[in-house]
Amino acid sequence: MIFRIFKKKELKSLFEILAEHNRIVGPVETGRDKDGNPIYAFDEVSDFHRIKLNYPTTKLPAKRYFLPFQEDLSTFKIEDDNWQKSIDYNAKEPLIFFGLHACDINALNKLDKVLLHSVYPMPYYAAKRKNMFIIGIDCVPQPFCFCRSMGTDTALHGFDMFITDLGAKYFVEILTDTAYNFLKNIETEEPKEKDHILYMKAAADRNKKFTAKIETTDLAKILDMEFQSDVWKHWGDICLACGTCANVCPTCYCYGVEETVSIDLKSAKKTKRLYSCNLIDFAEVAGGHNFRPERHTRLKYRYYHKHRGFVEAFEESLCVGCGRCGESCLAGINVPEVIASVRGGKIK
Ligand code: SF4
Ligand code: SF4
Repeated sequence: MIFRIFKKKELKSLFEILAEHNRIVGPVETGRDKDGNPIYAFDEVSDFHRIKLNYPTTKLPAKRYFLPFQEDLSTFKIEDDNWQKSIDYNAKEPLIFFGLHACDINALNKLDKVLLHSVYPMPYYAAKRKNMFIIGIDCVPQPFCFCRSMGTDTALHGFDMFITDLGAKYFVEILTDTAYNFLKNIETEEPKEKDHILYMKAAADRNKKFTAKIETTDLAKILDMEFQSDVWKHWGDICLACGTCANVCPTCYCYGVEETVSIDLKSAKKTKRLYSCNLIDFAEVAGGHNFRPERHTRLKYRYYHKHRGFVEAFEESLCVGCGRCGESCLAGINVPEVIASVRGGKIK
């Protein structure tokens, strides 16, 4: 690990050097909510001043750039009585992510375990993932994030460089030689002892701002024990089965594949669409049988995948504690309250 510091104005120079030959995605303000508060999202940016580096959690994660909601997997057409098949991994050029928070970097690391390093890697994800350069930045903790409980409030890998705001300067942690070489284009220096002290103070100040939490001790075991608990019925009864929670989640990756054939039978395509286990037909199979027809069984499934099944497979939860699902849920269902109720806490 290599550490450097640089003056704040140098970040703009770095952005402009990177933007000369690359597409850059960063957090920007995209609108206002009903109370007039800004809404932030990841978008392609070419002007440094559009990027809001002290952004709170975005409504949607950056997932659409490496796990798009809808993607053509293959197309077929008949030419001269022969089928022509074409596959496009949809990864045209490198993409630079400028300012991802630790939770979203950790979400990528978790997705990698399934979509990159498992027995059947997904080439569409791999092609995009290997074409990414990531600049992480420390977050501004929000009242709904419980990433500290999930151990995802800091990222140890999965990025190229990670910057921390020290007031007049940025402290940068460099993990890759690409980042090291990019940084040669701006003025940086070795951090001194006083910079280390400033860094530790910034980390301590940030830690004090995390308020939401969940108790994760023995959680996988407790979920096993409480599989038949009435609390699932409670949450299922208020769930609208809208699927928003999966849509906004940086780690939900379940999808369905649809095949369509043109009306003249001369072409066809396979399309992948992200799906949500809360939707009514998620567990419906050929013949019409639905393995999880009730809302509470589907909602329960989502929690068991995140906090039970993934833990068994990879020894870590699939939830990074970003809190987006709870913030977007129209029924007010959020992870800390659901988990507390499963552990015997009172439902408010
Ligand atoms: S938990 Fe909330 S966001 Fe998720 S499906 Fe139910 S109502 Fe929709
Ligand atoms: S389950 Fe909710 S809190 Fe956990 S990673 Fe997904 S959106 Fe974030």
